[in-house]
Amino acid sequence: MYIEPQARHAAFADHPGEALAESTLAMLRQGFLDWVSVVLAAPSKGSAEQVLVILRKQVAEPQAGLLLGAGLFTFVTDRAQAQLVVEVVHQPPLATSAGQVETVIGRYRRSGLIELVLARSGASSDEFALRTALMHAVGHVLGFAHTDAAQCNLMSSERHLCHVPFPAECREEAVDTRCVAVAVAPLRALDRAMRTGRTLAEFPGELER
Ligand SMILES: [Zn+2]
Repeated sequence: MYIEPQARHAAFADHPGEALAESTLAMLRQGFLDWVSVVLAAPSKGSAEQVLVILRKQVAEPQAGLLLGAGLFTFVTDRAQAQLVVEVVHQPPLATSAGQVETVIGRYRRSGLIELVLARSGASSDEFALRTALMHAVGHVLGFAHTDAAQCNLMSSERHLCHVPFPAECREEAVDTRCVAVAVAPLRALDRAMRTGRTLAEFPGELER
């Protein structure tokens, strides 16, 4: 994985990129670690349609090392060596209205590029929205398609992150947790694939529509 530290501006191809804040970069790295947590949370048995995974605001350093050791993702410092590149793209909002929050759209390009498109309307970005938009796009990389079954699922085309009817600890704005729901069946398939030592390049991928 390589996270491009310079954001692009959609309207001006030759516009010099703005450096992403360190907190934003940390949040994006977190989005990858979250996937390891999600896979580890997959129940091996049972018929539940989806599983709820609590995301901590920040994974502790030793735990992050443990998650990276699981081998699903490796971060590289050279973009040319990466199988997957993440870029943040700033896009002017289609319509501005007071109180409208910044929207984040995660798109996966089959070329190995994830674009996180930020449409700004003045409000500050929800860091969890950025993180879960990236998680959604990484889900496509791992072969997850959109799910229509659940109203609220990480791989829903519209609602990546939900507050209800999740447990109280996922609904508290003040605490450092949020939750995502993930369909169990594809999660088990991914878990099996990881156990057989497949690398990211061997995953099928699912192009964003
Ligand atoms: Zn999608």
